[in-house]
Amino acid sequence: MLRPQVDADGAPFWAYAARGELRVQACADCGEPRFPPRPCCPHCHSFAHEWRPTDGRGRVWSYVVAHPPLLPDYAAHAPYNVILVELSDAPRVRLVGNLVTGPGAPLGSFPRERLDRLRIGARVQAVFDGSGLPRWVLERP
Ligand code: ZN
Repeated sequence: MLRPQVDADGAPFWAYAARGELRVQACADCGEPRFPPRPCCPHCHSFAHEWRPTDGRGRVWSYVVAHPPLLPDYAAHAPYNVILVELSDAPRVRLVGNLVTGPGAPLGSFPRERLDRLRIGARVQAVFDGSGLPRWVLERP
């Protein structure tokens, strides 16, 4: 399984995620949330920042369903989805992830016959399984 390449700016995101918390970097001066994490605020150019807790809710902004050919580590899970989630309490922040059937469920767990439930605008909730990788479930499966 591929793992995130953690850099200094993004390390806190992954540390919080490993504890089951979804936090986003936000400017400590103007308050604007930003993703991916970076040193400087693109709005006010401040270098001061904080890691703001989110409620872990969002909406599917876009998605794809991956089919082979794929990287070898992913081919065994196909077909699986990749979703782009816009956070409810940080609407300009969009996170890439996967829709699964529950915490700890494998990458390709969302059933092919239910893909009609995966649509743009669907409400989703972040879940954590201890791997440190946030995943998503439908709020109303
Ligand atoms: Zn700012």
